[in-house]
Amino acid sequence: MSKVLFMNFPGYGHVNPTLGLVDELVKRGEEVYYFCTDEFKESIEAAGAKFISYGERMSNFKNANKTAGNRSYADIITKIIGMTECEIEDILKKIKGMKFDYVVHCSMFCAGNIIAQILKVPSISSFAVFATRKEVMKMQYSPITEKELESNPIVSRAYSEAKSRIEKRYFVKMPAISELMACRGDLNIAYTAKEFVSNIEYYDDSFKFIGPPIYKRKENLDFPFEKLKNKKVIYISLGTVFNNTNSNLYNIFFEAFGGSDVVVVMSAYNIDTSNFNIPKNFIVRNYVPQTEILKYADAAITHAGMNSTSDLIYNKVPFVAIPIGADQLYMASRAKELGAAIVLNKDKLTAKELRESVNKVMVDASYLENIEKIRDVFREAGGYRKGAEEIFKFKAEKGIKDYVCEY
Ligand code: UDP
Repeated sequence: MSKVLFMNFPGYGHVNPTLGLVDELVKRGEEVYYFCTDEFKESIEAAGAKFISYGERMSNFKNANKTAGNRSYADIITKIIGMTECEIEDILKKIKGMKFDYVVHCSMFCAGNIIAQILKVPSISSFAVFATRKEVMKMQYSPITEKELESNPIVSRAYSEAKSRIEKRYFVKMPAISELMACRGDLNIAYTAKEFVSNIEYYDDSFKFIGPPIYKRKENLDFPFEKLKNKKVIYISLGTVFNNTNSNLYNIFFEAFGGSDVVVVMSAYNIDTSNFNIPKNFIVRNYVPQTEILKYADAAITHAGMNSTSDLIYNKVPFVAIPIGADQLYMASRAKELGAAIVLNKDKLTAKELRESVNKVMVDASYLENIEKIRDVFREAGGYRKGAEEIFKFKAEKGIKDYVCEY
């Protein structure tokens, strides 16, 4: 048994893919201490880990990010630099006196990498976003180049000051600006299949592509599944990060499918729906058991977040993608390239275009055929069991022995 320090970025897209992996590690005897915000406590504990809360600062940081779609990338990076420095100090206080054998951190949480250096233990990075900055930038609605980012006076000052303080205080190496949102560990676990990645040359042998870690999350979510039985069902979700940046999209969904003979299940995470005029055939919830609902869905509309794209492919649901930000444009364009989806522009979307596109992915069999090809590749990638195997192989390489910790 090893003691594992797990530090994740508090987002469903980052936490959900790790739950199966944590469950498997715990079943194999690892003792996992998992840092996240309180929102995720229940699901992390249900997966078998010991939950430790980051505390209020991280929750506030996450809530401020609700409007991330409207903020500049430079602004987000500056905030991440500040958050990194504070979190290192907070986490070290909370784990004082404890010993760990290795660290797993989110690729977007470079404080985790710095803590691994401070503790002098190997690090594993969890990549829930695999589009590199280059691809994301190419696809952004308003791109900023790496050079522009680094020469931005606010970013470069915040970075160089934090770097100097962190390196002097802890005797570590601060990851480069370009790594802050894609921080590599000694081992890197990516939740997709190699074949889905268009820029495979970027990834060296330290990357293990385990495919989407399909796992029945132990979520305690009520949902009236009986309303979906023997009905045509359309599922709509714009995810949990950029879903609140354009409320007009929801009105387009109502116009496109309101009053029709389909049941529409719509997730509207952290959206104030009190001003919506919700049609009777819509079931709107803050957060729904997505993977269970997809078993009933005939088609879906998605923001093309990494996990949702995998969920749709895995459950063989034809879909229309309306990417909003971050890696979603890359994911959507990759699905389109592979003949698995139709991609629509969020800024030019009309109800008619959406209705026709959803209809097209349902009646044109080629979409489902191509989805099935990707699904086969996903399954072959091995999922969270493969992830745990890779971690145990890595432990052996690093000389981390399975032993019973005494503390
Ligand atoms: N999800 C869910 N129910 C919802 C909304 C989202 O179960 O109502 C889950 C979904 O299965 C996925 C994650 O939340 O695991 C969203 O991650 P994704 O990468 O698709 O998008 P993000 O929310 O990070 O933009």
